[in-house]
Amino acid sequence: GYVGPSYEQILETRKTHLTPNLVAHFKKPLVIHEGHMQWLYDHEGRRYLDMFGGIVTVSVGHCHPKVNQALSEQISKLWHTTNIYMHPKIHEYAERLVAKFPGNLKSVCFVNSGSEANDLAMLMARIHTGNQDILSFRNAYHGMSPYTMGLTAHSTWRFPLAGVNNGLVHVMNPDPYQGIWGGAACRDSPVQTTRSCQCQGGCQAGDAYYNELEETFKYSLPRGKVAAMFAESIQGVGGTVQFPKGYLKRAAALVRANGGLFVADEVQTGFGRTGEHFWGFEGHDYVPDIVTMAKGIGNGFPLAAVVTTPEIAASLGQALHFNTYGGNPMASAVGIAVLDVIEEEQLQRNSREVGTYFLKCLEELQQRFEIVGDVRGKGLMIGVELVEDREKRTPLATPHVLEIWETCKDLGVLFGRGGLHGNVLSFRPPLCVGFEDVELALNTLETAFQQHMSKRLRGWRYGQAQSRS
Ligand code: PMP
Repeated sequence: GYVGPSYEQILETRKTHLTPNLVAHFKKPLVIHEGHMQWLYDHEGRRYLDMFGGIVTVSVGHCHPKVNQALSEQISKLWHTTNIYMHPKIHEYAERLVAKFPGNLKSVCFVNSGSEANDLAMLMARIHTGNQDILSFRNAYHGMSPYTMGLTAHSTWRFPLAGVNNGLVHVMNPDPYQGIWGGAACRDSPVQTTRSCQCQGGCQAGDAYYNELEETFKYSLPRGKVAAMFAESIQGVGGTVQFPKGYLKRAAALVRANGGLFVADEVQTGFGRTGEHFWGFEGHDYVPDIVTMAKGIGNGFPLAAVVTTPEIAASLGQALHFNTYGGNPMASAVGIAVLDVIEEEQLQRNSREVGTYFLKCLEELQQRFEIVGDVRGKGLMIGVELVEDREKRTPLATPHVLEIWETCKDLGVLFGRGGLHGNVLSFRPPLCVGFEDVELALNTLETAFQQHMSKRLRGWRYGQAQSRS
């Protein structure tokens, strides 16, 4: 059981001594004190189904025994070397990791967080190409360091700071649901969307977004030259946004034709998350020049990496580059164990099977609840966009979303929220969840939606009764 400061004490410390800008919480925040696979336990021993994996970080399960064992064996042997010496684990891990990549993506640099990985990728691209400008999508999230905050183009996460936008251009997001050109039926998705697409004879929305990208090259880039373009394979923080099929492949070709590199941010979509493939970019049928990864790579341990070609990696040789903790023995031991577990427990397959089932059931729920505007995603990376009005796709007002979110938490199921308006329910469970877990999540969502609808109906009747009197 739990031994430690009281709930009230923890709340007080959080208010007085922790940075106040930690992400918004439940009305009654949770104190989590133990975890096992897909389950979390609060200080009173209550159990919660974790459908968020701490934003995708917990990939193979909380405190997975094999990962725990690898870590504790390493802890008792050696924690740290500085990168001046060699240690066997980082070499073993580098070999294991690059074996997962196609083509010439065979050189890895380990860092400690997704922001650091993207920072490094920006640096590599600029040095390697000799160009300055970098493109990213509006609605993208790539990190919170000063460099990557500029790359992130989601106003919720931006500070009005001078300088962070230097050499960065945000291009139109090819968003099939909220974007102006639609295209929902054409996106890279395993389920048939219930929304019909206007396009006939190929995805015209994808073409329109691509033409807009070409325009950007013409108008916004000096001499049309670019250092890189960054893209998540499915936008995570932005609300599980999937791009029209074929778009990224064409964008990568365009970027290369103009002297740049294409960077796939696999921080959320890597390591089997999308089910169909090990890397999200594989679903878009192209091979990037640089891949950045974090979160799921370490099952919650601070570990991240940049994988690229030996030629691009060599560009960094123009100066010393150093990272104190990157690829330390503990992180490397964890990284190897995570790869082992994904293979041994066939978690990528599980992600595909359980995820596709979940998506299909959510689509059924969409038939019954008007507020479910869109269901999307791939594998165990799923978004449910809640709306006030299905036709207009107006986001469901925040208090309503928060209430649904809190109801599910109180019923023992945790998930996140994404999108500019926070109205997209985000599901990123540990890849070990099974069909019964999905059933529990579905039943809980159904109850929360039902409660929401009944309340609305009562509010509406109440308004009518008042106007009569
Ligand atoms: N890229 C993506 C796609 C992310 O979702 C995140 C984190 N939400 C990051 C980069 C930044 O990672 P970190 O918080 O580890 O710096």
